[in-house]
Amino acid sequence: MEEMTCDVLVVGGGVTGLAASVAAARSGARTILIEARPFVGGNATTGLCLHNFVSQQGRQVVFGFAQEMVDRLIDAGGAVGHIPYDGFVCAVTPVDGTWFRIVATEVLAEAGVTVLTGAGVVGVDARDARIHGVTVAMKGGLRTVRAHTYVDASGDGDVAALAGARFRKGAPGTGKMQPVSMIMHFHNVDTVTIADELGEVAPAMGTRRDHQEPFPVYFNGTFSKWNKEIRDAEVFPNLDRHVFFNTVWPTRVNVNTSAVVGVDGTDPVALARATTALVRQVTGAGEFLKQHVPGFSRGYFEPAAIVGVRETRNITGLYEISDDDIRAGRKFDDTIGQICFHVDIHDPDTGQAQFHPIGDDGAFDVPFRALLPEGFANLVIGGRCISASSYAHGATRNMAPCLVTGQAAGTAAAMAASAGVEVPNLPVPDLQDRLRRDGAYLGER
Ligand SMILES: Cc1cc2nc3c(=O)[nH]c(=O)nc-3n(C[C@H](O)[C@H](O)[C@H](O)COP(=O)(O)OP(=O)(O)OC[C@H]3O[C@@H](n4cnc5c(N)ncnc54)[C@H](O)[C@@H]3O)c2cc1C
Repeated sequence: MEEMTCDVLVVGGGVTGLAASVAAARSGARTILIEARPFVGGNATTGLCLHNFVSQQGRQVVFGFAQEMVDRLIDAGGAVGHIPYDGFVCAVTPVDGTWFRIVATEVLAEAGVTVLTGAGVVGVDARDARIHGVTVAMKGGLRTVRAHTYVDASGDGDVAALAGARFRKGAPGTGKMQPVSMIMHFHNVDTVTIADELGEVAPAMGTRRDHQEPFPVYFNGTFSKWNKEIRDAEVFPNLDRHVFFNTVWPTRVNVNTSAVVGVDGTDPVALARATTALVRQVTGAGEFLKQHVPGFSRGYFEPAAIVGVRETRNITGLYEISDDDIRAGRKFDDTIGQICFHVDIHDPDTGQAQFHPIGDDGAFDVPFRALLPEGFANLVIGGRCISASSYAHGATRNMAPCLVTGQAAGTAAAMAASAGVEVPNLPVPDLQDRLRRDGAYLGER
């Protein structure tokens, strides 16, 4: 079996793995990124808002690599910045999915990361509290990749789970996980009319360098007034369907409203079955929108290329971010950054979204210990699978938080590799200094 070696191996090329591998490579580590799909960007490639940079009190608390991506995307025409909104958040940051993929590809290349796409980690050699290598399935067969330090940015915590780490799946008691969904892309639509018809408050209005006239870039609402049609045509599994719209274009919109419940995203057979169901649901919803909802009649739609998974494993770390930490907006001495997006839970039974605010000043700290799986010397976790309760995960799973934890995970992995130390023994003040030098915001202290 052919072998590859590096200082830092990052598994998973979504927002988390992007931030982690760029941070590791910029810190001087020979870095490999392994991504199962043929492209990087993960769920961000479906076109969403990077929730959230600005707290409900109007204070920006996410900077660093996350802000750099927004700036790069604005330059490329794939973002419109942080736009004020008078709804459930006070600012939104929509990004175009395709341009996220393009800019992410470029940023990784510039940083000198060796990117292996179409390559999935299927085995982990873990002994004596260390990972000694991972087995990667790719065209041509299996390969071993060995590193000093490993970052699990797979969303599902695949590396940690394969290594034997403890984890929790879903809500306490029931194990129920949030539903899976598929975004719908609609082209040639009248976004002003759609926002008038469906927006529950005035839409967030943005501009572009090539389109100075403000246009709706974010709004949300429900399809309640079409409940009869929805019931008759069985468009959605339930009525009063919530719907979230975002775009960076005046005549296109991404629609987030589908849901299939009861799916374990780590079960490939269940996920494939849900993918078929979601393609059908989105196609039916697209036809419904064209026929019934003003602004869509001349549009063309397509389902996103990938299914979106909200919740699977949360790896048990040296610290688990608790429900109470969120309610208190708790701050920690070993913080690596802040999170200010609400707890965002799509009900595991109905698929409907509910938001719960963060206490104190609207932001909580992520302690470094929540990125360190219990019992491992050379493994760091970032993104969706960090150590958090099911409720807290409703906040940590969003993309600005994933960029924050990804940058910290990659930086810590590179520092540990360079110093030849175990990650849990890395001096936290040194990590915090490095993150601050790289533009991250760690709170006022
Ligand atoms: C429908 C939907 C809508 C959402 N809306 C928003 C929103 O509006 N705003 C927001 O901020 N957040 C939103 N989220 C949440 C957010 O998009 C994700 O939680 C976040 O993108 C997760 O980032 P990640 O990098 O941890 O994981 P992912 O983006 O899932 O990336 C993980 C990557 O790892 C790869 N991978 C997995 N296993 C392996 C393996 N064994 N080997 C190699 N590669 C592997 C995957 O292919 C994937 O590319 C939404 C989520 C869903 C599902």
